[in-house]
This record gives sequence, structure tokens and C-alpha cells, in this order.
Amino acid sequence: MAEKYEELIDKLTEEGDLSDDELLALITMPTGSGEGLFPNTPQAASDPCERLPLSPSFTEAEKALFDAADRVRRREYKTAVYVRGLIEFSSFCRNDCYYCGIRRDNRNLKRYRLSCDQILSCTDQGYDLGYRTFVLQGGEDPYYTDQMICDIVSSIKERHPDCAITLSIGEKERESYQRYFDAGAERYLLRHETADTRHYSLLHPAELSLEHRKKCLFDLKEIGYQVGSGFMVGSLGQTAGCLLEDIRFLQMLMPDMIGIGPYLTHHDTPLRDCCNGSLTMTLRLTSILRLIFPYALIPATTALGTIHPLGREMGMKAGANVVMPNLSPVKVRKQYQLYDNKICTGELSSECRGCMERRTSSSGYQLVIDRGDVKAH
Ligand code: SF4
Repeated sequence: MAEKYEELIDKLTEEGDLSDDELLALITMPTGSGEGLFPNTPQAASDPCERLPLSPSFTEAEKALFDAADRVRRREYKTAVYVRGLIEFSSFCRNDCYYCGIRRDNRNLKRYRLSCDQILSCTDQGYDLGYRTFVLQGGEDPYYTDQMICDIVSSIKERHPDCAITLSIGEKERESYQRYFDAGAERYLLRHETADTRHYSLLHPAELSLEHRKKCLFDLKEIGYQVGSGFMVGSLGQTAGCLLEDIRFLQMLMPDMIGIGPYLTHHDTPLRDCCNGSLTMTLRLTSILRLIFPYALIPATTALGTIHPLGREMGMKAGANVVMPNLSPVKVRKQYQLYDNKICTGELSSECRGCMERRTSSSGYQLVIDRGDVKAH
């Protein structure tokens, strides 16, 4: 049995793709970790929210998958781990995604917005810490007009012309994306979250559409952004078939960055009674994505570090090559709770930088001071 999976891993490594049936076999292969792989489906075990063991053990086939992904990542990027300074500048959002802690209808959240000066002070501090990429992330907050976003982007560019600016501010009109790009933003993160229409409707209200989200992603690509997409692992109703659709969608989009993390519950959302997603499945998919998209920038996400104390280290060893320490002012970090128990909300930015450096080197990689652009593909 193990040989069958190892053959599939070899084939995926060599050819960069598998048939639908073969991919489904890898996605659903038995695990040694003891975790439920699809905790929020009717097929899940009766007590799927079991605590994850501190040292999960993996089968030989799972280890072979992680090792294959690590070899490909080393071939493409050697031991480099690129660092992005994350600034969460607004916790207001006009949308009401059922899984998200900062959704519009969460009345229990104290909201905040950062001014342009506050954002610039974060980027100045980040620059001194060695960051050469800044990610400006927020809910879809109409308070920030296109002109304000352009002013923020161009002010950062003026002060730090050697840095890359990534925006992650949701679905906009194509003209707005073009204006931000012309002002100097060169990257955009917009996870598609799920490529399956039925699954999408379990996670989002009817006013949001998967079709529009996909259109935004293709608009961004056409404009010339380096584009990041991705999805949550283990959200309500997600099946192996949904994950296969996610992979097939990404193969159409060919994004430069792919962000995946386990779904994590938030107590003030309609999905509060769901279980967290699976660490094992997130690692497994990180490796599969590395083998299909060898060139990609794949973060070891904060959500991975939240679900397990060594989640980000395991993510790097499974093929991830980006980390995103928080640069937001400490006093607002707890108010950007997309999910419960989010880590890194109390440390100073300098402590986050040091912590990430230690975690990276203890995993056998090196944090590099670089814009960390994607390789040509
Ligand atoms: S997931 Fe994004 S768009 Fe949806 S409510 Fe949260 S911040 Fe807003």
C-alpha cells in the first residue's frame, strides 16, 4: 500500500501533475497523526475536535511526500525563507463571511483603523528590522478610498523604493486595482477560499459570489500584479473533491503565491461550533502544492502556528518558503482576530523578527533580507 503512494509521489515530483483519481488518492491517504482529515463533514468521526498530539507521527508515505516537497523547494529556492512584514491596518469589513472574526455582523469586536502616518511608522520600523516586503491587509473597508490607498502606497514607495508592496484588501473594481498598481503596489493577495460553488455558499452569504472573486483574480493577473491565492483547509463541508477543485483552479490561475492554512473557528461567528481544520491535511496540501507549483511562494502561515506550536516549522519542512511576521502596532493586534487564539498578538515587532529567525534556522533554513520576488514561471 505504502508503495502505491510513494509511486504517486514520484510521479507527481517528475511530472508536476496527476490524474484526478491519483490526486484524490494522495489527498485521502491514511495518516499516522491520529487526526480526522475532514473534521467538518458528515463522514467525520464522532468526536472530531480531539486535541492534536504535541508530536504527531506521520506514516512513511506522508514523510516521503514532505521530503519530496522539501527537495523541490531546495532545488528552486535553496534554503531561503522570505520574510514579509504584515500590517493589519483596518479591522472593519463590509462583508459577512460566516467563518471570519472581523465580519460585519460581529458586534462584539472593538474595531480600529490605522492612519497613513501610523502605517508609515510600521513600515519604517520594518525597514530597520530588515523587511523588504510589506503586506497591507485589512477587511473590505470603504473608509479607505482608492485615493487614500494610492497615497499610502506611494508614500511607502517614496521612503523605501527598494521594497515591494503587497495589498490584501479584498474584491475591488478592476479600475481600482489598476490605480493601486500604477501607484506602486506590485503584489496582491486574494485567497479564493474554495473553488467549489456549493462549498462557497456554505461559507459566504448570497451577496458574495465565487464567480466575482475569480474575476478579480484574473483582473489582477492581467494588470500585471504578482498574484496570491489560496484556501482554508478543513472548513465546513470541505471534501476531498473540493480540494481537488481548488488545485485545478490554481492550475488555471497559476498564481505566484499560494497561501493555505487550517480553518480555525472564531467564537463570534455562525460557524462557532465547527472543529478546527487539520494540521496534517494542511501539511499534506502544502507539499502537493509545492510539487505542482515548484516556483511558488508558499507561506508557513500564522494559522499553522496557531493550531500547533511547531506548525510553521512543519510547514517549512513540508515545502513552505515564506513567513509573515506581524508589524502592526501591538495595541491593535488583538482586535484583528480572524479566528480564536491567534498567536503573535503580544510581542513587539522586533521580538517577532527574532522569533521567526530562530524558528527558521532551527528548521534548517535561512531568513533572507530580500524582496523575495517569485521565480519566472
Ligand atoms: S474573510 Fe475577508 S471579506 Fe470576509 S468578512 Fe473577513 S475580512 Fe471581510
